[in-house]
Amino acid sequence: MSRGRGCFEVKATDLLGRVGKLYTKSGVLETPALLPVVHPLNQELDVGLIKKIGFKAVMTNAYITLKRLRALAEKKGIHSIIGFDGVIMTDSGGYQTLEYGEVDVTPAEMATFEESIGSDIAVVLDRPTGFSRNRAFAEQTVKETLKAAEETIEVRRRKDVLWVGPIQGGLFTDLVAESAEKASALPFEIHALGSPTEVMKTYHFTHLVKMIISAKTKIPLNRPLHLFGAGHPLTTPLAVALGCDLFDSASYILYAKDDRYLTHTGTLRLDELVELPCSCQICTEYTLNEIRSSDRAERIKLLAAHNLYILQSEIKQVKQAIFEGRLWDAVAIKARSHPKLWSAFEEMTRYSKILEDGTPIFKPRAIYLYSKEDLRRPEVYRAYARIKRDFRFEERSFLILATIPGEGRLLATPFCKRLLKEGVGDYQLLFLSPAYLLTPIEISEIYPLSQTLYPSSLTHALSTRTLQKGLERVIKKGGYKQIIAVCFDKHLHQKLTTLARRLNLTLLDYCGEGSSKQLEAAEQILRIIRSSQV
Ligand SMILES: [Zn+2]
Repeated sequence: MSRGRGCFEVKATDLLGRVGKLYTKSGVLETPALLPVVHPLNQELDVGLIKKIGFKAVMTNAYITLKRLRALAEKKGIHSIIGFDGVIMTDSGGYQTLEYGEVDVTPAEMATFEESIGSDIAVVLDRPTGFSRNRAFAEQTVKETLKAAEETIEVRRRKDVLWVGPIQGGLFTDLVAESAEKASALPFEIHALGSPTEVMKTYHFTHLVKMIISAKTKIPLNRPLHLFGAGHPLTTPLAVALGCDLFDSASYILYAKDDRYLTHTGTLRLDELVELPCSCQICTEYTLNEIRSSDRAERIKLLAAHNLYILQSEIKQVKQAIFEGRLWDAVAIKARSHPKLWSAFEEMTRYSKILEDGTPIFKPRAIYLYSKEDLRRPEVYRAYARIKRDFRFEERSFLILATIPGEGRLLATPFCKRLLKEGVGDYQLLFLSPAYLLTPIEISEIYPLSQTLYPSSLTHALSTRTLQKGLERVIKKGGYKQIIAVCFDKHLHQKLTTLARRLNLTLLDYCGEGSSKQLEAAEQILRIIRSSQV
């Protein structure tokens, strides 16, 4: 087992999400991972059950441990205190300062304590910014957090404890970026972004996107990013897509105490349920009535266990989506759970270029586009930019512009087959699509140009202005004698009519389904070309 530095290996990526392995002294943790928060003194759900549900790591509070169990913890170690032989991450109590004001421990004392109790992953005693709108306060927290980080690095002794460098700044994304950059300069193994809890509670998901991007783009790729207190199924795909590898959450137990039942798209009150919409062990062993009528302590345990099953299956689904290269789809589907989450998804689409970093160049599957947001998928962005940058238009007499909506392989269409049967002609054939704007037939088989499927109505997303600009660019390069546009798509007919007038195109109308229309159109085009050559 490798220890200390170089403790993180990436196995698969999609968007900025990744499946990785984090090597700790208590074993290997596969990421993305969610760490249930357990209480060092009065944990209400048996830690053994948490392990049985499949969690390889938990998080606990080092501050409470220090205050209440110091001698015992130093003697026996945190694993024995908690009764868990997997990976233990200790939070240092920084969050307590948000709740109760100052804590009476220094960062150096806390660091020494966390190492002495054998924590696998230890967090610096930082100063969370929270949801404050006071810039001076936010600046102060960033400064104090950095100072605490430096003091911690100074006193750290153990090579086998992974240290987490916190990032603060809250709502001020420039401060988040600055905090991330400065923390990155220190020898930490992991980073953690603070203060999303308040942002999550108030559904400010758009801000969460900005915060994560600001931090993620400043930290080294080989260091995992932990998102503090943001383990809710609603935001898991989004946060993973933006590059978060680790999460912790006390929500499973807090919700259970409040009689709330987690689902993949939100939480429901126990009295709102008419069914148990889940097949976890709890929901198959117990009926809804049995859960409702059990005494409070038992009910909390049952609900907490179910909630953990949901959290665990959410992480597994996201992991599978990364391997399959459909993390974008997972985020988009989840975004339909709440309008504010949809806004956050829209915000994410602004970062196509950044998201492209982790998106494989080739995927063994087609990409599906459903909405104008999907047109900003990194695969689409990348291919569009490449055509624009790298395709050289040669001089030809004719430019043929065709629209075959939603088709996968253009070369396989009756229209193309008929045209190309005649061999190489004195024309440039371009296909118009909402994703790639103008695809030259010569490169149409390159991924993902022929592996892109969308409903024909998506061509609505193409504006006349964008089309005109794209066409003007091509026309300028090719110097064509005649431009023939053939329209098979009723959604584009009006736009092409306008462009025919503005750019002097010969517009052929073959709107409608079926291969016969395509064959007729190809015949007419060949006749036009032949007649001009005699
Ligand atoms: Zn369940």
